[in-house]
Amino acid sequence: MAGYHLETNDLKGLSKYIKSGDCQNIALMVPLSVSTSAGIPDFRSPGTGLYANLARLKLPYPEAVFEINFFRNNPIPFYTLAHELYPGKFRPTLTHAFIRLLSEHSLLSMCFTQNIDTLERRAGVPESKIIEAHGSFATQRCIKCKTPFDDAKIKEMVLNFSKARKVPKCERPRCGGLVKPDIVFFGEAVPPPAFSKSPSIIRNADLLIVIGTSLTVHPFASLAEICPDDCPRVLINIDLVGDFGDRDQDVVLLGKCDEVIKELCEELGWEEELMKLWEETASSTDATDSAIDSTTDGASSVAVEESRSSSKKAGNEMLEAAVAKLAERIEKQMALGEQEATESGSSENRAKDSTSTSISGDKARASVVPEPRDSPASANPGVDEPVKRLLLQLKVHLMTVAVVNRTGE
Ligand SMILES: [Zn+2]
Repeated sequence: MAGYHLETNDLKGLSKYIKSGDCQNIALMVPLSVSTSAGIPDFRSPGTGLYANLARLKLPYPEAVFEINFFRNNPIPFYTLAHELYPGKFRPTLTHAFIRLLSEHSLLSMCFTQNIDTLERRAGVPESKIIEAHGSFATQRCIKCKTPFDDAKIKEMVLNFSKARKVPKCERPRCGGLVKPDIVFFGEAVPPPAFSKSPSIIRNADLLIVIGTSLTVHPFASLAEICPDDCPRVLINIDLVGDFGDRDQDVVLLGKCDEVIKELCEELGWEEELMKLWEETASSTDATDSAIDSTTDGASSVAVEESRSSSKKAGNEMLEAAVAKLAERIEKQMALGEQEATESGSSENRAKDSTSTSISGDKARASVVPEPRDSPASANPGVDEPVKRLLLQLKVHLMTVAVVNRTGE
């Protein structure tokens, strides 16, 4: 990469660089919304039933579904949601197929994802090339003794959950703890160990491609920032975000992810390969599973009906109100935290800055996630418990919204 300079900051220049032989290590960030064009149901869309299902479970607030302490007492809401979202119900998108294509061309150094739906894996991207910053549904274990639980068994239980209502429990003698997929929950600040390797991977990249993100989500936004100045960066998104466009090696490709990816592959002469890999993903859904179509099972179709009527609206309002309230509390707490950080060193200030993104504007994008390991909340002793709690709470809210937001919207 050293010395290479993009001829033009557009599709052509990018494509030329990718094919030049100088671009060997491509790091990809696919935060949050890439998977949503795969049809993962939106809490707020009529007919999905997701929120209505949760509303019927009388959660104290929507985020509780991903809260570890809540889960310990009542795992039913989580498994109800898991039933709706479980991997295998949704097909990877063109963008996921593109990630695999880079890997097949031996150009992918790493794909960083915040999605928990394992669509990258199911598109055929090798496990060693994926870092799931929030964990995923790919593995699961007992929350007490940490003993792993069988993949096939949990899958069957989750897919049948709406009928059997059976929560997976640890099978180790005398344990019987609850089993939970290895998704990072509220109250579990520890990121997957692989995540600590992220900065060095980004620093050694020849090209960074950021797809479908508002870049208000940390630690992903910081990864885009630590990318060296002489490393070309590409943003593929509906809107211009972050500091993209500031550097002379930045390429900004605005539009819908799948469409831009298709254009890029045409330019690269990879269109046929892309479509072939995407065709293969059609068989990655569990189309034969009886529990797949949630509208065919009793509980969900009731929920669908509900969501079509008034409870959907009520649900929206509840969610909106909860988010607004949370945002307000966070802003207040962040202001306090900011003062404290000012007194305790510049590196902490920096970390704090990186999480104090404005969240008052578009609520759907009110996305602030603390850096799992270096979270100012956990690293800075000056930040009190309420701030820590709020940061984590917002993170969980984000995870909830993450799986339901639409690509680039
Ligand atoms: Zn156990």
